[in-house]
Amino acid sequence: MSNQPGTPSLGFNEPLIYDRSCEGRQGCTLPSLDVPEVAPSEVYPENLVREADAALPELSEPEVVRHYTRLSTWNFSVDHGFYPLGSCTMKYNPKINEWAARLPGFAQLHPYTPTSLSQGALALMVELEEMLAEVSGMHAISLQPAAGAHGELTAMMAIRGALTKRGNPRNKVLIPDTAHGTNPATVTLNGYIAESISSSDDGYLSAEAVAAKMTDDVAALMLTNPNTIGLFEKNIRDICDIVHQKGGFVFGDGANLNAIMGKARPGDFGVDAMQFNLHKTFSTPHGGGGPGSGPVGVCKELTPFLPNPRPIRLSDGSFSLQMVPESVGRVRSFYGNFGVMVKAYTYLRELGAAGLTKVSEMAVLNANYLHRLIQDDYHIPFGNGRCMHEVVASDKNLAPTGVTTLDVAKGLIDRGFHPPTVYFPLVVKGALMCEPTETESRETIEEFAQAMIEIAELARTDGDALHRAPQLTRVSRLDEATAARKPILTATK
Ligand SMILES: *Cc1c(COP(=O)(O)O)cnc(C)c1O
Repeated sequence: MSNQPGTPSLGFNEPLIYDRSCEGRQGCTLPSLDVPEVAPSEVYPENLVREADAALPELSEPEVVRHYTRLSTWNFSVDHGFYPLGSCTMKYNPKINEWAARLPGFAQLHPYTPTSLSQGALALMVELEEMLAEVSGMHAISLQPAAGAHGELTAMMAIRGALTKRGNPRNKVLIPDTAHGTNPATVTLNGYIAESISSSDDGYLSAEAVAAKMTDDVAALMLTNPNTIGLFEKNIRDICDIVHQKGGFVFGDGANLNAIMGKARPGDFGVDAMQFNLHKTFSTPHGGGGPGSGPVGVCKELTPFLPNPRPIRLSDGSFSLQMVPESVGRVRSFYGNFGVMVKAYTYLRELGAAGLTKVSEMAVLNANYLHRLIQDDYHIPFGNGRCMHEVVASDKNLAPTGVTTLDVAKGLIDRGFHPPTVYFPLVVKGALMCEPTETESRETIEEFAQAMIEIAELARTDGDALHRAPQLTRVSRLDEATAARKPILTATK
């Protein structure tokens, strides 16, 4: 008997909430009105008043609770099981983070509360900035951006600001071919031209490749370290020197910070600006599970360009907000996603410096263990038998069987696992990018590896069975292109 968690179980059907509606049914009752009733048309402009009542569903409280609880069981989450989605760092989110974020003093604080009455929240933000600066070696941090891609955008705005101040914003940004899709998008949104640099045959970016493209019109190099193949860019110091000598900035995509905490700091190896994905590295729910937060860290020269307002610590120990004149302005309403900051702060305080170092050590160890377990069945093109926090395999060995990466991913669903990231990074054909994270036990990694091996064996004996997977889910293969291009977003009633 397999220990794999993918077994058929009670699966609830659930119609649209509108289809459950029953006229006159109520979820709660209110006391009768003790003030004179006023018609909406007496208070609001005519054109804003509804002609008929909104067609809201009418249900009892238990019906509403069951509706949403059932729907929640149709989704997969890290609280269900192993979620090795590479580059996304789907680590377990400790429940104490939620406790802290729900403390009434944080949860019910209105963003317009004057600074004299929101000292605790400001202190938390300033201390979180200080901790992130220490982990990364960056000079200053802004917590305002709402996600990683937004942090990238903000950092590139700061770089444009600094270059403009020096006299020329320049027009190009270099990006290695292993980059995440948000990097070129960020560059384009900032009005720069993205230029791709090929990594070497061994998966690393070479200093020579950067030197060949680093001209006076290049504003920045954007690179991810460890990169998306799961390799630590060993030429990083030379690469940063080359960019700096030509007057450019180095942006470090910080999404893979989980691999290096307590071991290496981007600010120390030459990065001038980076984003943090609090929802990845610092354990807050994401990927449909909640809002993100993408703070940006910068070097001294870029600091005056960080978004306004900046929370600051005053000399008397109290906290305030500061408006800086050269700032790129506001990139988000209020201060950013404050609830996510509380969770990340809690996580950091819980672990401390030694704990964070251990996180990275265990994340790398787990990925390497998985690498060893699957390497006889799956081709692993880069790294010479080693990786950082993620192992990127491919479907090359399965080619004679006709089974592809997509089939492997669907087969994993039937075995109770969320598939890894597939077909990314683009430099690996048929990529299966697995990031187990530090929060998984040895047994879970072994069970996942066993499922991967079982799928490779099945591919050799009955490939068609995999073309038909998944079989244990509510629906089998979806037409993903149509679902993405022509989504049906309205209720039928
Ligand atoms: C997740 C990720 C991003 C984007 O971050 P979001 O928070 O999803 O906007 C950028 N780069 C890499 C390498 C990532 O993994």
